[in-house]
Parts: sequence; C-alpha cells; structure tokens
Amino acid sequence: MGGLGASDFSGGEATVARALRGLGFEVVRRGDDAEAAPGIRRNPPWAFDELLLALDLYLREGQLDDSDARVLELSEVLNELPIHTVRPDLERFRNPNGVALKLANFAALDPGYPGVGMTRGGRRDAEVWDLFSKRRAELAAITSRLRGGVISSDEAFPVTPEDDEDEVAEGRLLFRQHRSRERNRALVERKKSAARAVGRVACEVCGFDFEVTYGVLGHDFIECHHVRPLSDSGATMTKLADLVLLCANCHRMAHRGRPWPSLEDLRSLVRSAPGQSRPPAGRPQGKP
Ligand SMILES: [Zn+2]
Ligand SMILES: [Zn+2]
Repeated sequence: MGGLGASDFSGGEATVARALRGLGFEVVRRGDDAEAAPGIRRNPPWAFDELLLALDLYLREGQLDDSDARVLELSEVLNELPIHTVRPDLERFRNPNGVALKLANFAALDPGYPGVGMTRGGRRDAEVWDLFSKRRAELAAITSRLRGGVISSDEAFPVTPEDDEDEVAEGRLLFRQHRSRERNRALVERKKSAARAVGRVACEVCGFDFEVTYGVLGHDFIECHHVRPLSDSGATMTKLADLVLLCANCHRMAHRGRPWPSLEDLRSLVRSAPGQSRPPAGRPQGKP
C-alpha cells in the first residue's frame, strides 16, 4: 500500500485532518504558523509540584469552575513557579481552564465524589492521588512551602534543576532547596569534624571511604545528607543529628523513591546485595 500525498486529499483541513485525527494520527500542517497547528505548541505536562498544588486545592475545596477566585489564584501561583522554562503556549499555560480540568481529573479519581462521566487524567495524577490523598497534613506542609517560595524572595527556589529531581515525592522545587541546604559548606564542615572526632569520614550506609580507594585525592571527600525532607523539617535550624555522611552512590539512592528510603532500608539493601564486595559498613563514626 502506497503512502498518500496531498493530491489524494481534496477535502481540506476541515474534513481530512479531522478524519485522520480520528484514526489516531497527529496532523500538523507544514509551513503554517503555530496558530494553525496547535499540536506543535503543546505545553509541558504537569510536574509533581504542580499536581500537588492542584490536589491540595481539590481536597480543600472540591471541584471548582474556571471563574472561581481560588482557581484563578492557583493559576497565578503555577505561572510563578520556576519549573518550566519552556512554555510553548504561554497564553494557555496553566490557565484557569487547565486548573479546573485538573481538579476534574482528581474528582474522577475520588471514590467519594458523587459525579460520573468525568475525564480521567494521566498516570501521574493517579500517582499523586495515591501518595497524598490520605496524607493531607504532609501535603499541606509541602504546598505552603511552595506558595511561600512564590511570595517571599527569602525562600525563592533555586532555578537550576537537580539530577533526578522529577523522581522526588515532594516535587522538584523543595528538592532543589533541600539539595542546596545540604551543600551548605559550613554545615558540611561541622558534620565532618564531628565524624572525625569519633572515627573517620566515611559513608554511613556502605562504609565507603574515598581516601582508602582514591588515596590523597579522596582525602576528606564525602557528601552530606539531610535525612528529613524540607516539608517535614520545615524552616527550623538544621540539627547535626539530622545529617549523615554518605558516599555519592548511597546519596543518590537516598533520594530515590517515594517516599525516600530510610538509612536502615539502605543499609539492609547494601548488606543483602548479591554483588556486595565491600565489607558492610556498620556505623563508621560510632564508638567501637
Ligand atoms: Zn555509600
Ligand atoms: Zn541528601
């Protein structure tokens, strides 16, 4: 069967394109401006942070229409978040209609919602619903920090993305804040000298000691991890007890998963790994 050329279609955009779209094809008219081909100006899908804000509104207020002041407010907040730097369809980016639709998606997932015939959203909507619909206090803590970052320049979010930031339950922006806090030089130094005072500077999960493997190059090298997500610890001062020293591998693993694995989880994973070649860590800075 040969391909179809333009001469095979005389019905024009109105009929042919609609028929093709009905068959599941994406039809984009080459050479046209973006107005004539809305398919090429699609905005990025909702990030976790954005979904959390919408879920929070839904759980507090239920379904709302696109003229509601609370929907307009959330639309503005979403437009302020430094998550999506590319917004191909700026006019419609997280507009009130999009927000109202997202609330409808959550209503469709809500077993307690009386309505029927709603449009279900994507996989991520369901994921966010499953994670947070029963953990409202935690959700409220996260969203209040997100809104705080929009309102106050003191709490403004770093704009540089972190690796794997889309894998994090509290969303990209709080994760960026968390990571920048962990890199605080003074804090890291305090934690390292506390470790040195009672033992050595090594990974508290797997025992990896950079100096043992890399010699002088690895001397004093380690990463600092804060065990409590920002949504949990809030704006309180960081306590040394909340910090652990981790090698780069264990640190990446510590931030994977929703919610994050505990240090004990990680230790038992490392201990039971079949390919485990290093001696299990125990707690290198603990007393013998
Ligand atoms: Zn490690
Ligand atoms: Zn960390």
